[in-house]
Amino acid sequence: MTTNVHALERVKRPQTNPDRPDRAEVEKAFRTLIRWTGDNPDRDGLVETPARMARAFEEFFIGYSQDPTEILQKTFEEIEGYDEMIALRGIRFESHCEHHMAPIIGQAWVAYVPSGRVVGISKLARIVEAYAKRLQIQEKMTAQIANTINDVLKPQGVGVIIKASHHCMSTRGIRKPESDLVTSRMLGCFRDNPLTRQEFLSMAV
Ligand SMILES: [Zn+2]
Repeated sequence: MTTNVHALERVKRPQTNPDRPDRAEVEKAFRTLIRWTGDNPDRDGLVETPARMARAFEEFFIGYSQDPTEILQKTFEEIEGYDEMIALRGIRFESHCEHHMAPIIGQAWVAYVPSGRVVGISKLARIVEAYAKRLQIQEKMTAQIANTINDVLKPQGVGVIIKASHHCMSTRGIRKPESDLVTSRMLGCFRDNPLTRQEFLSMAV
């Protein structure tokens, strides 16, 4: 319990890192990387590249400025006692692995059984985005999504399944482009009730 609360505390606060370098420093670093590849950062085709890369990185890692618990704050209680599964299927996401900063491209299935209140469905997709747009490992991202929904919404249960291909495995290293990695986290009734778990799993096959 305590660990969970602390884990949540760590991720929910948008990063305000006093050591965050400014744009000029980042562009200089990208210039260095271009030189390191063996190319010339001053040639025409590359001269704007460090600035473009900095903008691309802002987009890739926008999740650090998003607060996943905040996203789930607004809930709806007029649901006529609805207490069946709510599942958003096949949420496409792009992330980056924290070991190689290579793309992770995948889909997430996010489901919960409410306990008196629900969130707007787009919020489930936004939670996935907020965690995907960070340096990640898939196992951690799967757990973060499930834990946040569980802690904030306090539903009867949560299930998260992620299927993704990792470019650090498909374009380099062992080069297995046809494989994808499947991870899941089941909490509450998704963990305890085999029928609920099965109903959810059958949606993601
Ligand atoms: Zn990697």
